[in-house]
Amino acid sequence: MPTNLLALNWKMNKTPSEARAWVGELTAQLPATAAELAIMAPAIALPAVAAELQGSALAIGGQDVSAHESGAYTGEISAAMLRDVGATYVIVGHSERRTYHAETSQVVAGKAAATIAGGLVPIVCVGEGLDVREKGEHVAYTLDQLRDSLAQVSLEGAHQLVIAYEPVWAIGTGKTATAQDAEELAAAIREALRGLYRDYADDVRILYGGSVKPGNIAEICTQPNVNGALVGGASLDVASVVGMAAAL
Ligand code: PGA
Repeated sequence: MPTNLLALNWKMNKTPSEARAWVGELTAQLPATAAELAIMAPAIALPAVAAELQGSALAIGGQDVSAHESGAYTGEISAAMLRDVGATYVIVGHSERRTYHAETSQVVAGKAAATIAGGLVPIVCVGEGLDVREKGEHVAYTLDQLRDSLAQVSLEGAHQLVIAYEPVWAIGTGKTATAQDAEELAAAIREALRGLYRDYADDVRILYGGSVKPGNIAEICTQPNVNGALVGGASLDVASVVGMAAAL
């Protein structure tokens, strides 16, 4: 069983100075936990977070990455740049990027491949909207998104992979999927990964994301195919992160 990963997705919150102060507060209070923790800070705050985390076991990661290695792509940040400031992970294909930045699964596939080529681990996000869920098509929809988003990830790349199942209707809404909903999709994703990557699929961590908090994380993350959580809102608050780490 892979170790649980608690990935804290700050989204567009915290300046570098706020981030540094917050991390200092967190590390002073963090209990011993069996989970691996990763702070997905805004790219501009990553050096400050890395400096504050010196000597700790916490990892850091980006929230997006360019599909290109380098060159004339104004505003973009490459995998090599993230790696240079100490990142281990990067979120790709978050539903907010798919929605507000028109990222298709084909674009996400390029980003996942660039992430692995750049020596980082992509956290590839998939998940259905409310309309799809209400039609009962959430499994097929999410698996299509998964296969398309992984189209450029080879068998060798598969052990550098994390998947996050994040039903869009549960993100930032306070509506958490039940632990059974999370497991239904995590199990379906695991099966699809077996088709793509054979036995490597058992080592791929599958996270759940969508209104995770201290009170529900344990039940969700003890499901057989769920190996951690990608947390937005509750990741901004030290006490909530301490509570979630303690629960894992
Ligand atoms: P939430 O966000 O925890 O605020 O629902 C999760 C995410 O978007 O990754």
